[in-house]
Amino acid sequence: MCGIVGHVGPKNSVEVVIEGLKRLEYRGYDSAGVSFINQKDELEVFKKEGKLQNLIDLLGTKKYISRSCIGHTRWATHGEVNDVNSHPHSANPISVVQNGIIENFATLKQELEGGGYKFESQTDTEVFLALIVTTMISGKTFFEAVSSSFQRIDGNSAFVILNGDSGEILAIKRGAPLVCGTHDTHSQALVSSDPYALAGVVDRLYFPEDNV
Ligand code: GLU
Repeated sequence: MCGIVGHVGPKNSVEVVIEGLKRLEYRGYDSAGVSFINQKDELEVFKKEGKLQNLIDLLGTKKYISRSCIGHTRWATHGEVNDVNSHPHSANPISVVQNGIIENFATLKQELEGGGYKFESQTDTEVFLALIVTTMISGKTFFEAVSSSFQRIDGNSAFVILNGDSGEILAIKRGAPLVCGTHDTHSQALVSSDPYALAGVVDRLYFPEDNV
C-alpha cells in the first residue's frame, strides 16, 4: 500500500501532485505515475518504474497546465514491477489509482474478459477500471459507475478516479487511509492517502468514511 495524491483547482495540478508524491517517497515504492487533462482537454498519462525522478524526467521540462491531476506511487501486490503495471490505469476517459488489494479480482477479470474487455496490465486495479468503464458504456453516470463498481469488489483499498471528460475526481475507500483537504481562498481540493502530502497546502482536512 503506497501513495496517492489528487488535485483539482486553478493551480497547475501536475506540479501540485508531483510535490505531494515527493512528500510520500519516505513510504517506499517501486514506480510512480500521473494522469491529467491537458490544455486540449485530452487525458494524458505518464508512468515509470523506479524512482519518482524517472517520472519527473519523463515529464521533461514542458510545463503541463491542468486543473485536474491524479498521481500514485506503487508498491506492487499484483503483477510485476514495470511501466505497464504502474498506475494510473486508464481507458479513455477514465483513469484510476489504487492503494490496496482487490481480493476477488481473478473472478471479476474472467467475467470482464468473457464480455470482451481487453486488459493491458497484470494488476488487480485494472479490474476496477474495467468495471467503471463498462458500467458507463451501459449508460450510467460517472458517479453511479464508481459507486456500483466499488460494491462489486472485495478487500481493503482506497481509489482515486479521474474523469477525463469532466475533470472530476472521485475518491472512495474501505479499510485504507484516505484524507481530503480544501483551500477555500485558492479554490482547490486535494486528496491523498497520507495527510503529510496535504500539510500546509490546504486549510481544512476531511477524513472520509468507508464505502461512501
Ligand atoms: N494492488 C495494486 C497493484 O499491485 C496497488 C498496490 C499499491 O497499493 O500500491 O498495483
